[in-house]
Amino acid sequence: MAPHNTFYIAVACPSCGQMVDIWLQADIGELRYDSYSIGDLVIKRIPPMKPYGPSEDCDFSRPFWALGLDECSLCNADIRMRVHVRDRRYVGVEPAQPGDQDFAWGY
Ligand SMILES: [Zn+2]
Repeated sequence: MAPHNTFYIAVACPSCGQMVDIWLQADIGELRYDSYSIGDLVIKRIPPMKPYGPSEDCDFSRPFWALGLDECSLCNADIRMRVHVRDRRYVGVEPAQPGDQDFAWGY
């Protein structure tokens, strides 16, 4: 798998409804297999060292999101979430929207 970072959160699984700990794999920041929790500084330099995500075109001074992927540890369903970064910090997630591709990102 290509380099990525992981973003921890506890969520209700959209498939089985149980609370599970997930580590969403997303291309955000310097891609070094780092793990982040809510509030952590993700974008440490602008631009970050390569490889980085979500895109060379991203304005890291703006709030943005990028798609994160994991699976439920209880029912193995895929979990797809938008991972949000604001003021260069990991601030939270929301369910992916229909049509979000694996490497989608936006503001
Ligand atoms: Zn589940």
